[in-house]
Amino acid sequence: MNKVVTRFAPSPTGGLHVGAMRTALFSYLWAKHNNGKFLLRIEDTDRERLVEGAVLEFESSLKWMGLDFDDEIIYQSNRKEIHKNYAEKLVSEGKAYKCFCSKERLKDIREFQEANSLPPGYDKHCRKLSKEKISDLEANNTPYVIRFAMPEEGRANWDDAVRGKMSLEYALSDDQILMKSDGWPTYFLASAIDDHDSGVTDIIRGEEWIPSTPKNIAIYEALGWEVPRFAHMPVTIGESGKKLSKRDGDTSVVDYKKKGYLPEALLNFLVLLGWNPKTEDEFFSKDELIKRFELSDINKSPAVFDLKRLDWMNGQYIRKTETKKLQKIINELYPDAKILTLSNFDRILEIEKTRLTKLSDILENTDFYINLPKYDPKSLIFKKSNKEDTIKALNLVTKALAYFTLVTWEEMSIVDFENVLKKVVEENNLSNGDVFWPVRFALSGEERSPSPTELLWALGKEESESRISKAIKTIK
Ligand code: GLU
Repeated sequence: MNKVVTRFAPSPTGGLHVGAMRTALFSYLWAKHNNGKFLLRIEDTDRERLVEGAVLEFESSLKWMGLDFDDEIIYQSNRKEIHKNYAEKLVSEGKAYKCFCSKERLKDIREFQEANSLPPGYDKHCRKLSKEKISDLEANNTPYVIRFAMPEEGRANWDDAVRGKMSLEYALSDDQILMKSDGWPTYFLASAIDDHDSGVTDIIRGEEWIPSTPKNIAIYEALGWEVPRFAHMPVTIGESGKKLSKRDGDTSVVDYKKKGYLPEALLNFLVLLGWNPKTEDEFFSKDELIKRFELSDINKSPAVFDLKRLDWMNGQYIRKTETKKLQKIINELYPDAKILTLSNFDRILEIEKTRLTKLSDILENTDFYINLPKYDPKSLIFKKSNKEDTIKALNLVTKALAYFTLVTWEEMSIVDFENVLKKVVEENNLSNGDVFWPVRFALSGEERSPSPTELLWALGKEESESRISKAIKTIK
């Protein structure tokens, strides 16, 4: 058995779509599961569609997801001469031919086909040119492309690792252009040669490529090469039921990163878009996935990109991640955020972390840590309490905290603060609401916020005491 070699082969025509990242992930996992190699190949032969910076984005997104590729990046553009030689070889063997048809002629064919509801495609005019005619055209330097002479009979049969036995008629495919008139190879030629030269054994890609597979196979066969195994992944659809698009939210991996999704969470979410883990568990680390991943466990049916599930999963990963590590990520993502200037940000993050679905949430509804908002003094009174008990409670808590001298404020835990407040409740014939509510409101000035004990812990002595004393003055 050959060592498994997979490749991720994006075209540098834009950012890295999450759907493409899923393809990369599956290719990576399959290679690593088999102790094989995962290659990155840049399909950059379509020179008009190149987008600057795309390759850097691919590299950094793969790195961020922890999908390290093996060897050097393969740029197809560096292999142009090799592709050209093979195109010429195919021509000399009669497996490809020079097509001299002008743009106008091709346009006429297209219009005729459209007008007569005929299937689109090249009419193979130049496939039948005589040797003399070809020589004439060449002598006149007539521009040409090289087209593949697609078999006119027979079928492409392949055993798809996901979809099982597949069979499509060769004749349904057009005589594909292998090399353009400017000498640049097309995807079909370059990918076959590069797959072969880098020993690719498994081609893992989206199912939109199924109709092209007969062309891929015919080209391998024409070159006398073993055909790699194909695995076509199910499409990812948005909640609308249509192919994932901008309407379903962000589509590029970079956007998810910027919003504060963790790579471990996105990876875990993406693998479940199509891969069936065959267990109730839904949390998998990359290493576990490498152990368990099988191409045969990929579903054929479309996978729904459920953003709510991603949010939930990301929240779970945030809770599991050490606060220090989260703090570092937040610092890098949002260096200008005001909340980062607070010296107690680590404590704020510690208590807020259980409420975040993505890291950018820390920038929202957290202004009260920086400045206590103006509030209506009546809000300090719990719905089943009254003004007198509220003032009493706030005073008692102030005293209890001041006399709590076993450890310093900084050394107190959230549970210690809870014990202090509970004691105030128990020893003074007050209810939980009489005490916990006004302390919480005094500290946050918000209808919703973390608990009073968490806030006492996060805000620290000075700020907590000042906010509570301000509340007592306000309510009087
Ligand atoms: N460059 C192609 C793409 O952008 C790769 C197709 C394949 O994997 O064969 O999807």
